[in-house]
Amino acid sequence: MRRHTLLIDADDTLWENNVFFEKTIEDFISLVEPLGYARDYVRRILNETERRNIRQHGYGVRSFGRSLEETYLKLAGHMAQRSTITQVSKMVGELERTPPHILDGVPDTLAYLTERHRLILFTKGEPAEQAAKVERSGLQGFFEAIEIVAEKSVNTYKTLVNQHHIVKSYGWMVGNSPRSDINPALQAGLNAVFIPHRATWELEHAELQSGVGKLVILRSFRDLRDHF
Ligand SMILES: [Mg+2]
Repeated sequence: MRRHTLLIDADDTLWENNVFFEKTIEDFISLVEPLGYARDYVRRILNETERRNIRQHGYGVRSFGRSLEETYLKLAGHMAQRSTITQVSKMVGELERTPPHILDGVPDTLAYLTERHRLILFTKGEPAEQAAKVERSGLQGFFEAIEIVAEKSVNTYKTLVNQHHIVKSYGWMVGNSPRSDINPALQAGLNAVFIPHRATWELEHAELQSGVGKLVILRSFRDLRDHF
């Protein structure tokens, strides 16, 4: 088989990520419950605040922490209490210290793939935070390169293709997010492997679009062995 280049997403593809954020969000919503708002409403305000903060400050735990605090201040108004803000930053601190939980079958599958193909880890987020996660995961040795960008757009895929001299028909993006992994990669002329994760973040949801390349949908990371 010819050697392919696999660009592989990290959060919710190699390791759990969003479940920890969801847990923190649930705790946050419970914390602000005494203010009397419906849980759905609190979540909607938080999502709006996150969208705005991501545009200004990017992804990552700090940006998320800022969104929780702003949401609280908005909901509480003049009732806001310093002790609650302290509790929110404690929750965010815990989230930041959570060690990576590698998904089932990932190390074995990477060991198999790296013998046969070129692997590049491709993740978005705050550079220092993502780099620390990669290091703590112990998986970096399987990859020829680690690429961390602020946002995965059609242009960032095109840049990557040029930078790493990827032959598009032999280039694949592997990930769990239709919005960041699958659609822009297909639009940039690459192929894609979609591995849905049951807890994919709401802000990553999108309709799957088609492109020039092939789209393969797999149930688990381990199934990559059957294709490469
Ligand atoms: Mg992901």
